[in-house]
This record gives sequence, structure tokens and C-alpha cells, in this order.
Amino acid sequence: MQLVVPIVVVLVLLAVAAPVLVTRRRRGRSSELTRPREEEDTHDDASPARQIPDTVRGQGLGARVRALFGAGVSDDTWAGLEDLLIRADVGPVAAGDIVGRLREDYRLGVDPSELLRDELVGVLGEDEPLRLDGDELAVVMVVGVNGSGKTTTIGKLARRLVTEGKKVSLAASDTFRAAAGEQLDVWARRAGAHIVAQDRGADPGAVAFDAVKSASARGADVLIVDTAGRLHTKQPLMDELSKVKRVIEKAGARVDETLLVMDAQTGQNGVAQARAFTEAVEVTGVVLTKMDGSAKGGIVLAVREELGVPVRFVGVGEGADDLQPFDSRAFVDRLMSE
Ligand code: GDP
Repeated sequence: MQLVVPIVVVLVLLAVAAPVLVTRRRRGRSSELTRPREEEDTHDDASPARQIPDTVRGQGLGARVRALFGAGVSDDTWAGLEDLLIRADVGPVAAGDIVGRLREDYRLGVDPSELLRDELVGVLGEDEPLRLDGDELAVVMVVGVNGSGKTTTIGKLARRLVTEGKKVSLAASDTFRAAAGEQLDVWARRAGAHIVAQDRGADPGAVAFDAVKSASARGADVLIVDTAGRLHTKQPLMDELSKVKRVIEKAGARVDETLLVMDAQTGQNGVAQARAFTEAVEVTGVVLTKMDGSAKGGIVLAVREELGVPVRFVGVGEGADDLQPFDSRAFVDRLMSE
């Protein structure tokens, strides 16, 4: 009897405590299972743009924008739109400007993706062809970082101009990179253009000077000048490019166009890159290469918005005919839909 009382007490206590303990354990386990996901969501997906449903994530900018605005329009929506543009490589300054203007124009009931499409086409401006005026020798300087597709673009452009009936010369003023001259020589033959080159390490200005004289003597219509493209952050390169331009002018020609070749994959440092080249040689147009790949080249919107430089051509492959005049509407359509 002395033992029976404590045993009963223990049994009663167990009966009362057991469901509570089980529930606690279950709660503990369920929160362990859900917490990491909740934490993942709130940490990773803090920005409004990331609150877009998964089904829309793989889709183009247009679908993402509609999904973003589908949840109602607040300050977060506009911040989300800015975020989406930055992710499309539009760059923070241009993205901020664009969103500021859209915010003023937006009215309830308007399709925000259509509004954005029109705004982006407006940022890119009228499509302008290459300006090679006059009866005299026109000079096109081509600049850009190594690997951007500069040599290939020169070859394609030469081919295009030759096909239009122009007499074209090339100046191999990238005397720095091994094989640059040989590569350009192959393109000159392919395009039916004349080339002026010197040995590797020669003064790029001297090559340009000779090329102007030789192109003028041959009665060429256009001279395309290749230039070195080692890192744009290197001041000597920028000095060299300015010098090449001065020498061309000293030789009696005028630089009609200075084209900056940019790879469509160039991320947001593309604006700094373009600014450095523009300061050295006053870039008049961009050629956006490798648009046949998956990259959409959003960086040119930032370059246009911040530096005012239009896109002249897009490269759509490695072949001689894979250079097309830029079509801003087609470009924006691709950015919005893919
Ligand atoms: P550079 O160093 O700037 O002169 O660059 P290159 O002209 O040598 O090009 C670098 C690489 O990009 C080469 O393999 C080219 O064939 C390739 N390339 C250039 N433009 C395009 C393009 O529009 N599309 C594709 N797919 N490849 C390109």
C-alpha cells in the first residue's frame, strides 16, 4: 500500500505530461523542418523582385514585371522593378532613372510591361546608321577590350562596306597583341579589303599615319583602324588611343566614327569601361557582339542612358555576314520576352 500511492502519482503525472511532451516535440520538429526554408526565403528573397512566383522566374522581363505589379503597387513594387532592371544589367544609375520616369507615367489599369517597353525603346533613341559622310576618306576607329570581338567586327564591317560598293582599307594598329595583325590580315582577305600593317611592337600611331596616307593614295572610301584592347583601366592604353586619333588627324583625315565593341555578356562594369574609352577617344557608337548567345546585352541601355552613346550594330555570329544594323525595338522585345 505504501508503494501503491507513489506509483499512482507517477502514472497520473505521466498521463498528464506525455501529450504535452509529444506535442512539444512535434512542434519542435515541424519548426526545425520549416525554419530553414522560411529563413532561406526571407534572407535570400528579401527584395520585392524575388517575391515573384517561381513560375515566372524563368521567364522574360515582361512576365516578371506583370507578376510584380499583380500584387498591387507600392514603394516595394517600384524597388522591385529597379531590382529587376539591375539584374538585367541595366545598371543602378540607369535603372533608378528609368523607374523614376515610369513612376510618374504609371496609371492604374495600364500594363506596366508595355510602359516599360516603350520607356526602354525611348532610352535607346532613334536607330542611327553609321555616319560616313563626304567624298573624302572616312575613318572609323574601333576600340574595345580584348576578347570583345573587335577584330571579328572589323572584318564583318569591312565586308559589309565592300558589299555596298565601297573601297575599304584596314589599319592594323593593335601592334601589342600577338597575332592581332595576322588575324586582321585573314579578315582583310576574306572581306576584299586592303591592309596596312607593321611588325609587332611598332608604334600604333605610325601604322595609322601610314594607313591614312596609303588609303588616300589608293582612293579608298573608308579606313577602319584596329586598336589595342588590353585592360581599359590601364592609362597607357587610353593615352595610346588618344594619340592614334591625333595622328590620324595630323595625317589629314578626320575620324568620322569611333566604335566601341562590347560583348553582350558584359555586366555592369561595362559603363565604367565605356566611360574610360569615351573620355580617351569620344566614342560615337557601340557594336554589341555575341547577341547570338543567351546574353541579352542590357548594359547598352546603361551606356545609352548614362553616356548618350547609341548602338550602331549587333554581332550575331562569327561569320563574315553576321553583323546587323541595330534595331532598338527588336532588342527590347527580346529583353522583355526571353
Ligand atoms: P578581340 O580580341 O576583341 O579582337 O576579339 P575577337 O574578334 O578575336 O573575338 C573573340 C572571340 O569572339 C572569337 O572567337 C570570335 O569568333 C568571337 N566572336 C566575335 N563576335 C562574335 C559574335 O557576334 N558572336 C559569336 N558567337 N562570337 C563572336
